[in-house]
Amino acid sequence: MSDYYAPVDPEVLKRERAKARALRQSPWWKRRIADGVCHYCRRRVGHRHLTMDHLVPLGRGGRTTRGNVVPACKTCNTKKQSLVPVEWEEYLRALGALGDD
Ligand SMILES: [Zn+2]
Repeated sequence: MSDYYAPVDPEVLKRERAKARALRQSPWWKRRIADGVCHYCRRRVGHRHLTMDHLVPLGRGGRTTRGNVVPACKTCNTKKQSLVPVEWEEYLRALGALGDD
């Protein structure tokens, strides 16, 4: 696995962000967040506190598809933005979120 990511085409980012906005309004997403549980830490924070997170970030080639978006609480989302991938994996391991899915 490489830490080098090719720059993403701004047009692609724009399109994928627009798709994410649309997906957030969809019945599918509303059902997804209805129980209010964060995908990462499994805390029940309530659907109002859940954000849509791309498992593979758009900046790393991820796309806005049902398979690539999960509900994340603000704490996890903020950590994911601020940590490098290795630190993020450590955080998940500390939560016990890896390997029991
Ligand atoms: Zn969380």
